[in-house]
Amino acid sequence: MKAWVTMSTRDRARLGVKGRGTTVRLAGEPIRLRFVPPASVEDQPWICCMAWPPLLLPDNIRAPCATCGRMIQYRPDAPRRPLKVCARCIVDLTAEKA
Ligand SMILES: [Zn+2]
Repeated sequence: MKAWVTMSTRDRARLGVKGRGTTVRLAGEPIRLRFVPPASVEDQPWICCMAWPPLLLPDNIRAPCATCGRMIQYRPDAPRRPLKVCARCIVDLTAEKA
């Protein structure tokens, strides 16, 4: 497996994961999640966002995926710089980079 995605250590507890990484399935593909400090997430090219609808938290921000335009959502405190993309696109993006 070559594809990997970084995720903030702040979100690690929400997933109930310990350690520096884990493997999840996104759009049917195994993706290695690596956990990095929140400040490092700001330097990543993309962040993977959940699809909308449904709105998962009432103050989530809705926006189109930066790559395909499908509607996604993210937290108001999400890193500003990385492109917000959907799970399907993150699979393609990380595959190209691998
Ligand atoms: Zn997309």
